[in-house]
Amino acid sequence: MDFTFNETQLMIRDMARKFAQEELAPTADERDEREEFPHEAVKKMGELGFMGMMVSEQWGGAGLDTIAYVLAMEEISKVDASAGVIMSVNNSLVCWGLETFGTDDQKDRYLRDLASGKKLGAFCLSEPEAGSDATNQRTTAVKDGDGYLLNGTKNWITNGANADVYLVIATTDRS
Ligand SMILES: Cc1cc2nc3c(=O)[nH]c(=O)nc-3n(C[C@H](O)[C@H](O)[C@H](O)COP(=O)(O)OP(=O)(O)OC[C@H]3O[C@@H](n4cnc5c(N)ncnc54)[C@H](O)[C@@H]3O)c2cc1C
Repeated sequence: MDFTFNETQLMIRDMARKFAQEELAPTADERDEREEFPHEAVKKMGELGFMGMMVSEQWGGAGLDTIAYVLAMEEISKVDASAGVIMSVNNSLVCWGLETFGTDDQKDRYLRDLASGKKLGAFCLSEPEAGSDATNQRTTAVKDGDGYLLNGTKNWITNGANADVYLVIATTDRS
């Protein structure tokens, strides 16, 4: 088995390293101290293709493999853990789920903009009583006309106050 990185993977790693060192490092401490969301940095990460790295090009993503994604995550996270988790949630928890399980209509409406960084996603699973024990969900979804009425409490949601699209885990039948 060949464990060497290919040219594309190395190019992505170097691009992420340059971005992290030039754009994130100078303000990372100050933003942490002030608890500021890195709006500008996230916008640039979208422009560079870091927000939908494994999403196929058909849906507006970069169409890269997992290795390239992990290399970019490493470079960004080691300089700015907040930017890293914002990026990982959008990529792994929101875009991946939508591309894998969503309908074409949902992909058209949400995935394109999420993968190209025009919009930001949040993944709402954790609840006060449902962390590691994720199946202990209390949030309910009740059919209401064309949509669902959601009721419940979520916490620890990365991008929670700043997202455009929220992927919410809820149950339609507690039994
Ligand atoms: C930086 C960050 C970002 C996050 N972003 C998101 C997000 O975007 N969306 C989202 O939904 N959630 C998010 N979370 C929440 C995260 O998923 C939960 O914190 C996690 O699932 C753990 O749940 P908990 O905090 O309730 O801890 P608990 O489940 O209460 O666990 C507390 C401790 O008990 C241990 N423990 C739990 N169950 C057992 C067991 N059966 N046996 C032995 N030990 C056990 C755990 O290992 C842990 O040490 C985020 C958390 C962090 C820290």
